[in-house]
Amino acid sequence: MPHASILYVTLGCAKNEVDTDRMRSLLNGAGYNEVFEADQADAVIINTCSFLASATSESIETTLALAEEVAEGVRDTRIVMCGCVPSRYGADLPEELPEVAAFVRADEEDGIVSVMDGVLGVERDVLPHVPRIKRTVESAVAYVKISDGCDRFCSFCAIPYIRGRYHSRSAEDIIAEVRELVAGGVREIVLIGQDTGIWGTDFTEGVEGPANLAQLMVAVSEAVRPANVWIRVLYLQPEGMTDELIAAIRDTPEVLPYIDIPVQHCNARILKAMHRSGSEEELTRLFAKLRAEIPGMVIRTTSLVGFPSETDDEAKQMLAFMDREGFDYTSVFPYSPEEGTRAAAMDGQVDEDVKLERTQAAMDLAESLGFAATAAHVGEVAEVIVDGVEETDEGLELIGHAWFQAPDSDGAVHLDATDAAVGDILQVRFTDSFCYELIGEVVEE
Ligand code: SF4
Repeated sequence: MPHASILYVTLGCAKNEVDTDRMRSLLNGAGYNEVFEADQADAVIINTCSFLASATSESIETTLALAEEVAEGVRDTRIVMCGCVPSRYGADLPEELPEVAAFVRADEEDGIVSVMDGVLGVERDVLPHVPRIKRTVESAVAYVKISDGCDRFCSFCAIPYIRGRYHSRSAEDIIAEVRELVAGGVREIVLIGQDTGIWGTDFTEGVEGPANLAQLMVAVSEAVRPANVWIRVLYLQPEGMTDELIAAIRDTPEVLPYIDIPVQHCNARILKAMHRSGSEEELTRLFAKLRAEIPGMVIRTTSLVGFPSETDDEAKQMLAFMDREGFDYTSVFPYSPEEGTRAAAMDGQVDEDVKLERTQAAMDLAESLGFAATAAHVGEVAEVIVDGVEETDEGLELIGHAWFQAPDSDGAVHLDATDAAVGDILQVRFTDSFCYELIGEVVEE
């Protein structure tokens, strides 16, 4: 068995965290140790992001900085680059990055043990059998990937080319992982994928058990009982909001009334050019229906600004739509032409200055709506999951999040108390807010 040490560096989104965790589990099972400093590592695994050109640059800069750091050390530390950058640029990389010992595409990560054995010169007769991936989550929240890839091919997005076609993970696997996480103390399960709403549509006939996302959410909820565990689902496309799914969110106590629907735009012409569907009228009807069926529902969305050929009037139409809908949280992204996507070759690329101006206007509006939505919770009493303790100028404070705050994306709750552990669920009264953050005091149950 090898006793080589590996440092894991994860860039990008929560989906990458899950993939790193999977590789860590396989390598731990094969006898490798994890370390947390580059100067103690025999190898560094960098799990990269390439969603946007800026993320690709960050991945490469991080790799080069690590290469420089390990070159100054005494160990012959090897660097292995995994995930989206190798998936997107595989063939060009060995020449461009000679500092890297191996490149592992996202769809090759299950073979990470063989790769690391090769890189570190470990010889073994038989590869270890790791029967089930053991997650190493140490926080109160765990992301669980229910699918990978995407079949939508939005014209601005490189994900389908990086992560491949849509494929659902089996319900059996998902539920086993959720059970294990909850047994280990996790209090919130966040179900993720590039397009969670169509989970199960790629199963062939005859699969037993949950057949769609609504049924999966109910099954996952049943699996976590009787523990008090929250279940949140992210990345639902508007077309995926079926009546069955809305009913499952409304009627399943563990499932939070929090919906993340990235609309990107509301103008029908722009949506069509994005290779998406819908119109302002359809989206308005959808959100009205959601709010009628699930009163108090919190909605997060995404706005892509400055798509090729977007006019001033169309940009203003999106602002008016956001304003009217009063979204709780909106992530605003300026359009960036991604290599290999259809939108990058479209006529009418919007001038950078204009794009930045429109982006700023959308961000300002998103903030004013979000800050107001956060302030509206002041005076309420709600459960808060404790995520950790932070040091501030005034001393230590507990940090947690309420049901209406998705971890790592939305704001947090700051509590003037320290006598609780990560994963505790406290009853909290919100006494004040600033930006997306809330101040709270623990109330006796
Ligand atoms: S739904 Fe569209 S934006 Fe989202 S990952 Fe798929 S192609 Fe990209």
